[in-house]
Amino acid sequence: MSSALLNSKDIKAQALRLGFVRCGLAKAEPVAQPFAARFRRWLELGFCADMDYMRRGVEMRLQPDLLVPGVRTIVCLAMNFMPARHQPAISLYAQGQDYHDVMRQKMRQLMEAMQLEGRAFVDTAPVLERYWAWKSGLGTITPKGGFISVPGYGPTVFLGELFLTAEADLYDSPLESPLFAPPLGECSIAAKASLSSKNEALPQRGSGEGAFGDTICPALTSDGLDARRCISYQTIEHRGPLPEDLRLGTTFYGCDRCLRATPQFAEAHPTSEPAFQPSEALLQMKPADWLGLTEEQYRRLFKGSAVKRAKYEGLMRNIKRWLGQ
Ligand code: SF4
Repeated sequence: MSSALLNSKDIKAQALRLGFVRCGLAKAEPVAQPFAARFRRWLELGFCADMDYMRRGVEMRLQPDLLVPGVRTIVCLAMNFMPARHQPAISLYAQGQDYHDVMRQKMRQLMEAMQLEGRAFVDTAPVLERYWAWKSGLGTITPKGGFISVPGYGPTVFLGELFLTAEADLYDSPLESPLFAPPLGECSIAAKASLSSKNEALPQRGSGEGAFGDTICPALTSDGLDARRCISYQTIEHRGPLPEDLRLGTTFYGCDRCLRATPQFAEAHPTSEPAFQPSEALLQMKPADWLGLTEEQYRRLFKGSAVKRAKYEGLMRNIKRWLGQ
């Protein structure tokens, strides 16, 4: 462990230079009790569906020094992913290159530039990322969906964390008290699908993003997001047939309804990051084109994209349901 204190101002300035829109620092302490209890209950209820990785490493997720021994500081970073134009059948976050790769590269650059010791995580380790984003003052917790909304950018942000072994000269404070549920967006469908402390009205079917035929998304419960009923989970993470009663809205990969329903979505504006913009070929795809998508086309269209997580078979399964086949 380094004995020198991290200079928080310099780290933040360098993060902004690299294209992050916000950077905050939090002390690496165990996750506060109400948040930890809520996470345990979420698991007990089976709301993580068959994302077994959520059940593994629970203690690590709640106690950062079990994940990275000697960690003292968690640097939280946010990148704006809002594309300038988008393919309407694909969730907004997955229009361009895979954010894991883009974020990780920038985080490595930040560590090198600032000579930071520790590890970088982007949605790939047991980290309660929205908790740390809230704790480090990155943004506020949205009432609908429990997203982290960064002032001036809204909820269309990717989150990443550096677990560092040095202490910092200054730590940030949360921008608000958690008026709603503690955020729990630690799974890979997070930033796209989230947790809410109470049922929140969502747009009616016919408003352009409808999928459920009523005003409440059945996946949002008082105990958080039930992934088993969430379109994002089913169309991205789930392998095997889709539930019979799952009806897709405008997207066949992911779902942006609760993201768009948050008032802070009005703050979202196009990112300056070219990697998050869709290709012209993706933009040109029309509903009729999707059904005939060959595996070769799929590989070309989604080279380096997070959409590949669903695999070709999963994507075609989604497309067929989306087109009512
Ligand atoms: S189904 Fe859509 S609206 Fe409902 S929680 Fe999942 S992402 Fe949000």
